[in-house]
Amino acid sequence: RAAHNEEAAAKAASDTGAPTIFDKIVAKEIPSDIVYEDENVLAFRDINPQAPVHVLVIPKLRDGLTTLGKAEPRHTEVLGQLLHASKIVAEKEGIVDGFRVVINNGAEGCQSVYHLHLHVLGGRQMKWPPV
Ligand code: IMP
Repeated sequence: RAAHNEEAAAKAASDTGAPTIFDKIVAKEIPSDIVYEDENVLAFRDINPQAPVHVLVIPKLRDGLTTLGKAEPRHTEVLGQLLHASKIVAEKEGIVDGFRVVINNGAEGCQSVYHLHLHVLGGRQMKWPPV
């Protein structure tokens, strides 16, 4: 338990509003393994997968959404698009009957990249609580 907490603390960072590596992924300046893409959303495989399927679903335009906690009424359309894209990813990956969508929010929520992203996880039996 203590080791887990240390690991979580090491991974977490704070919301400075600085550009993140996901801007470069959206701009295709650095490569990613893209699973799904449309006008507003990009989904690509996590570089450090926590399950056989681990895909990150992000808005192409961050528009202030460093965290879910910064969501405003103007973001509701893209927030819905992100959830819908997560379902498309689950279908494409063959896990639509059993998968998990996670948003880590802020340092205490174990967030490390401050560009809103949904983790789509599956391909194995998930456990609850997620600790
Ligand atoms: P968070 O901890 O919820 O903020 O999730 C950030 C995720 O981004 C982590 O699961 C990382 O493994 C993942 N990640 C960081 N950099 C990259 C990258 O360059 N490509 C793909 N995934 C990345």
